[in-house]
Amino acid sequence: MSGFEALVLTLQPEMFPGTLGLSLAGDAKARGAWSLAVKDIRDHGRGKHRAVDDTPAGGGPGMVIRADVLAEAIDAAVPADDPRPRFLMSPRGRVFDQKLARELAAGPGAVIVCGRFEGVDERVIAARGLQELSIGDYVLSGGEVAAQVVLDAVIRLLPGVMGGEGSDVEESHENGLLEYPHYTRPRDFEGQSIPEVLTSGNHAAIAAWRHEQALALTKTRRPELAEAYLLANPPKAKKKRRGPPSEG
Ligand code: SAH
Repeated sequence: MSGFEALVLTLQPEMFPGTLGLSLAGDAKARGAWSLAVKDIRDHGRGKHRAVDDTPAGGGPGMVIRADVLAEAIDAAVPADDPRPRFLMSPRGRVFDQKLARELAAGPGAVIVCGRFEGVDERVIAARGLQELSIGDYVLSGGEVAAQVVLDAVIRLLPGVMGGEGSDVEESHENGLLEYPHYTRPRDFEGQSIPEVLTSGNHAAIAAWRHEQALALTKTRRPELAEAYLLANPPKAKKKRRGPPSEG
């Protein structure tokens, strides 16, 4: 096997590959750029009904996935020396971002456990070295959609998956800024024309305009990102008035 190897443990295996079986991710999978193994946690359930969950110790609403069931499911699917990082999708986790997507895309793959109900027994998290990973500050009904979000972001960064070298480096969150606005045909849309500089053929002017736009947009919409960007990339003192702006 070559390429990025994803292993997903879930109580809803029929939710996979889901969105990952179509379009860019699906094509990449068909070409062998990445692979997906899906394991049903319920295969390790207890008793005739293959129970995977039970009531929370101490009371309270909902059900919790049992530590022994999940640990067995992980042990059966993941060899002890498996080099892949292991994640538990969880709204309590580190918030997934483009930096982590890049790191994962450079690695051998990922093991992703999808929670359901109220979540999983706390003890299994450390016992199996799971890193909790969130896709944002809201609560989903299960980790499956979250796992697909993470894998989608990683897959498009795998070598050869996106055409056009460099089509990913200027994107939002890649260089710390939101992306500049795009335009295509028609040249006139309901009285709005395309900004003139973009049809000028002057590549330095276009690059300068796009950078300005990206910075202005980021300042307005995500001031904290703009602040971090400007700290890391202090505007250079202008020596000359001509020439392209320093990028990056
Ligand atoms: N009781 C938990 C939420 C459980 S939601 C709590 O308050 O923290 C059920 C499952 O959905 C979780 O186990 C997790 O796998 C998944 N999930 C919910 N929100 C998520 C998010 N923002 N990011 C990643 N996974 C999430």
